[in-house]
Amino acid sequence: VKKPGQTISKGHRNYDLMLNLQLGIRYSVGKPSSTQPRELKPSDFDPKEKFWTRFPPEGSKMTPPHQSVEFKWKDYCPLVFRHLRKLFAVDPADYMMAICGNEALRELSSPGKSGSLFYLTQDDRFIIKTVKKCEVKVLIKMLSSYYQHVCKYKKNSLLTKFYSVHCVKPIGCQKVRFIVMGNLFCSDYRIHRRFDLKGSSYGRTIHKAEGEIDETTTLKDLDLNFVFHIQKPWLKKLIWQIEQDCEFLVAEGIMDYSLLVGLHFRDDVFNSKMGTSVPYQKVCVTNESVPGQEYFTEFCFADSGWRDTARVDGREPPIQLGANLPAMAVHHQKDLGSAKIYQVILYFGIIDILQDYDISKKIEHAYKSLQVDPNSISAVDPKLYSRRFRDFISRVFVEDD
Ligand code: ATP
Ligand code: CA
Ligand code: CA
Repeated sequence: VKKPGQTISKGHRNYDLMLNLQLGIRYSVGKPSSTQPRELKPSDFDPKEKFWTRFPPEGSKMTPPHQSVEFKWKDYCPLVFRHLRKLFAVDPADYMMAICGNEALRELSSPGKSGSLFYLTQDDRFIIKTVKKCEVKVLIKMLSSYYQHVCKYKKNSLLTKFYSVHCVKPIGCQKVRFIVMGNLFCSDYRIHRRFDLKGSSYGRTIHKAEGEIDETTTLKDLDLNFVFHIQKPWLKKLIWQIEQDCEFLVAEGIMDYSLLVGLHFRDDVFNSKMGTSVPYQKVCVTNESVPGQEYFTEFCFADSGWRDTARVDGREPPIQLGANLPAMAVHHQKDLGSAKIYQVILYFGIIDILQDYDISKKIEHAYKSLQVDPNSISAVDPKLYSRRFRDFISRVFVEDD
């Protein structure tokens, strides 16, 4: 399988930046003081704590020589993140090897609109994202409650797993801030389709023809033509956990996040287009709260025997909520009056959780409200955002009874 993204080798415009990042992380993770972490104190969460380290090319007592220009390196709340990595079962040596080992990182062709750059480690476990100063501020501000939240819900929380935050300042250049996080789609299963779902509808389509869509395309709300049927115990867990995670996000004043969903089709990818075809009958009218989203039409199957043929069997229970969850994806074919059913394995999590409802989002809301239905736009107050997000999820993930 061809890996996504472009390998960063010498000559790449961000080669030096990556080199600096790798030197910095090797230094931070490897330094003796951090190999024996002590208990956390409130001051460890203090954003004012300064951890700048100078990396001159000729090397210093603390840092190795290197071939790029001098840079400064800063770690944000290193001890907290060290504890977080432990909590998420990331081994320090694996972490360092994945990011700083011999295998180069891959730069993904910028998937978001924000202009952030994304890098993937060769082992696919970690994603590095460049972020704005205000996003780092938001993360540091929420860090203490985030820490408590993930301690409480462990691996079941669907919130982005943050592993560390750093800043690089090459002499004469702007600061670049990075976060390292878990890749939701790190799996032995190939991810065939991915969706970034917010629950809003305005502009939430990628405007691509079927033929232009492939495994690396991130589809959006209006492109989604599946409903996922999940066994009751898992569905209940899922909905409950999303409520807890959203409650956290509301308390932190966060909005504009997404549920990122990856689908692995259990049938061979080429055959999967066939699916199991079953006729269905429309029984209700379209969902009125979201104009244009016809695929949320209620329907029932003319033949109820489909569950026996399509049921996912011999399933391994998921090890954590957001990974490896078996489901039946029902694909609605509007015009044909039938649905196709695919056995899938789902991967998902809540991503992009560092946007608060700041002045720019308020202005965006006011401005777009003049043109379209205010409830269809992404930028809304965090409480509303969460409500709409959860409503949407409960329409897309339903009980497989
Ligand atoms: P914008 O603010 O315009 O929405 P952004 O630059 O903040 O975009 P994100 O929304 O964080 O970017 O991510 C963009 C895309 O990158 C996602 O839709 C997804 O495809 C991929 N992505 C982001 N985080 C992860 C992750 N943890 N695991 C896997 N893929 C991810
Ligand atoms: Ca986003
Ligand atoms: Ca964003």
